[in-house]
Amino acid sequence: MSIKNNIQLFSDSLQGACRLVAVSKVQPIEKLHEAYEAGQRIFGENKVQEMEQKYHVLPKDIEWHMIGHLQTNKVKYIAPFVSLIHSVDSVKLLDEINKQGKKANQIIPCLLQIYIANEETKFGFSEEEALNLLTDYPSFSNVQIVGLMGMATFTDNQEQIRNEFKVLKKLFERLKAMNLPPQVVMKELSMGMSADYKIAVEEGSTLIRVGSALFGERNYPNKI
Ligand SMILES: *Cc1c(COP(=O)(O)O)cnc(C)c1O
Repeated sequence: MSIKNNIQLFSDSLQGACRLVAVSKVQPIEKLHEAYEAGQRIFGENKVQEMEQKYHVLPKDIEWHMIGHLQTNKVKYIAPFVSLIHSVDSVKLLDEINKQGKKANQIIPCLLQIYIANEETKFGFSEEEALNLLTDYPSFSNVQIVGLMGMATFTDNQEQIRNEFKVLKKLFERLKAMNLPPQVVMKELSMGMSADYKIAVEEGSTLIRVGSALFGERNYPNKI
């Protein structure tokens, strides 16, 4: 299957209900070009430097989404052009995004990453932390919270994955029904990757983040 075919298959099956973030981390520029030529306009990266390099050489109508853990000292490099940060996992990071948004004269759309997996290593807010943050929300002028992001446990257990997505969707609906500050709008729910995007779409995802199912396996250059 070519990248072009894959993009076509995704756009046929998603039919606008949910958008595809093409996760292009580690992939060479030629593959991004191929996806772009097939009509793909949203690309997801997890490393600041790599995203910056790709941004500079690819067409300017691409939406660049940061999907990986973001260090506060690196926000400044992407603030001028990033379209959505999926992986906001602390108030400290949000504060820095606001600061850099101000400097770059941008209002930066962000998702709160919610910890839904049954694993020790995942980043994100707990449900309670997210609720507390949004009920007592600091006045960040240059950040707009537009939804939530979550990653399910890395497991073959489909029911567990589905349940974790349900938990995230429920929190999303609960927050949506709340009296939120004007800089917070619950409209995007980023969940689902190559292995579990079908379940995620069934459970109400609006943004799936798909890498290997689109581009093929990633060849990490420094892995033997
Ligand atoms: C790499 C990555 C993906 C895509 O993973 P695939 O399994 O290749 O689809 C999605 N989300 C995040 C946060 C990632 O780091």
